[in-house]
Amino acid sequence: MIISTFAAEMLMMFQIVPIMWRAVRPSRIADMPAVVNTFWLRKGYEGLTFFGQILAPTQQEADRFNAGASADRQSAAMKNHEMIHLRQAQACHDSWVCFYLLYLWYWLKGLVFSGCQVRRQLKHAAYLLNPFEMEAYRHMNDPNYLARCEDGAQEWRKYAKMSLKERLLMYRSNHKL
Ligand SMILES: [Zn+2]
Repeated sequence: MIISTFAAEMLMMFQIVPIMWRAVRPSRIADMPAVVNTFWLRKGYEGLTFFGQILAPTQQEADRFNAGASADRQSAAMKNHEMIHLRQAQACHDSWVCFYLLYLWYWLKGLVFSGCQVRRQLKHAAYLLNPFEMEAYRHMNDPNYLARCEDGAQEWRKYAKMSLKERLLMYRSNHKL
């Protein structure tokens, strides 16, 4: 039993290799299928855009992503959020690698420079104040947003130019904190 669980975990760990191997440029992707991956995505997380697919923590979550707009409003917004990341990758020289490097850079910068004050006021600040996430969260409830940025989502560039304090102020006023 333990061995089979271990084998299943190993399989999940390496499942991402063929996804990366077969990845195509973001602009060539019309839709992203969701697949279950319990190794890279623990419970409590909703989904992760990964080289043209969405990794989900459970089959139930994967089904919600795959149903997308045809399911409930929240599932539609979740799918929209991940699809906005696809459009952002399109805007990063149409390259997944560029997108992830830049994502990592903004996240690290948020982690290092957010300071105690920002962190005290907002939990997960480095994630929520990441310019890519700010755009995705801001427009995930708008069903027309993807059509408006078919050639690449660019709003994150505006947030990237703002300081973390300015981003925090904006986040707080948007969420009425
Ligand atoms: Zn996101």
